Amino acid sequence: MLWLFSFFLFGHLFTASGEVAEVGRLHYWTHAAYAKLEPAVIRLADFMLRRAFFTQNPVGRRLLWLLSWTNLLLPHGVVIPTPAAARLLRDIAGAPEAEAHIAIGPCVCQKNLERFREPVEKDITVLYGAEIYRRFFPEYRRLDLDEALDLLKKFNQAGLTPVAEFLMQSGQWMFVLCHCDQEVCCPTRIYNAVGRSLYPGPYQARQDPKKCLGPEVCGLCLKRCHFHANRAEAGRAVLEEGQCLGCGLCVTTCRGKARKLVRRPGYSGRLLPFARVQTPELD
Ligand code: SF4
Ligand code: SF4
Ligand code: SF4
Repeated sequence: MLWLFSFFLFGHLFTASGEVAEVGRLHYWTHAAYAKLEPAVIRLADFMLRRAFFTQNPVGRRLLWLLSWTNLLLPHGVVIPTPAAARLLRDIAGAPEAEAHIAIGPCVCQKNLERFREPVEKDITVLYGAEIYRRFFPEYRRLDLDEALDLLKKFNQAGLTPVAEFLMQSGQWMFVLCHCDQEVCCPTRIYNAVGRSLYPGPYQARQDPKKCLGPEVCGLCLKRCHFHANRAEAGRAVLEEGQCLGCGLCVTTCRGKARKLVRRPGYSGRLLPFARVQTPELD
């Protein structure tokens, strides 16, 4: 199907091999239409997430699940650690095409729900996503690589999860690098309610239980994880590897140096090939 969308070249995207290429005009305008609809989608998701019927009742949960199932058409994200996000941005910034660029604007969830918390400017659009959002939303500004990498570090310190967002279940349609919390971010809240919208990334955390200082002394992994993958037990933090999506937020601040990131066994790379995010810092 994608060849159909590539009939008229317009804008830029990552190809499956990780190179930057031009994107089809229909592809571009489909996404531009989504960008215009996004506020309504976010408000609908928030309306549902704030009602117990949709998060606790089996019928309501099914309806919320169906809304997130529309992520076949709407964006969905792969969770990645900060060094992997930096690798993606370096590759984009190094592309020869002048218009393959990076931009930043206000968090779309915060803006449309009018629930602001710092940092507000954290929506790092890339490639054709940057082109579209800068075209239709004046608050987006072009970002150079140094500032982008600096922001990634700040977002990590602030405890925000890096998520590479795609459109239409295609690994070729990455358009934004989001940095999410669990209070306002709709995709994260949907994931925590019904297990959809986000996908485990190419890495996952691993813990050496002997090195853990315990929740009383440290406990940062319990505070920083947005996916409830940690619990306190017998004076130690216990990592549920099956629930870890691989953001690495608990690794960078672990006071006992008990945690590291490892490659996720069986990671398919269907949406985000491992080769595109591999970096020596994580190997
Ligand atoms: S997905 Fe996350 S960063 Fe993106 S707009 Fe929503 S809260 Fe903001
Ligand atoms: S962050 Fe590290 S040291 Fe702190 S509680 Fe978690 S595993 Fe233990
Ligand atoms: S356990 Fe750590 S790496 Fe895994 S999702 Fe939670 S904070 Fe991220």
